[in-house]
Amino acid sequence: MNRKDWSEEELIKIWTSKNGNANEAKCPFSECPNKNVLMRFSNYGNHSEVSWVVDHIIAIDNGGKNELSNLRPLHNLCNSIKSNRMIK
Ligand SMILES: [Zn+2]
Repeated sequence: MNRKDWSEEELIKIWTSKNGNANEAKCPFSECPNKNVLMRFSNYGNHSEVSWVVDHIIAIDNGGKNELSNLRPLHNLCNSIKSNRMIK
């Protein structure tokens, strides 16, 4: 796993790099089952339907980096779907 505690500043940077100043944004996961449910910035990591987490587009285990270009906000749920699929 590549858990990391993101600072408020990092979270803002990651969110705004993809979503600008919007408070709500679409989940970019291609297989998102809740496309019509917008993620909400203030609901970071709180396990509600609109919550989100920081996703590594390329997982650290696969050589991905902790840099902005490899990070994006994703539904909590979608991040779980994605990581479950990568478990061998
Ligand atoms: Zn999603």
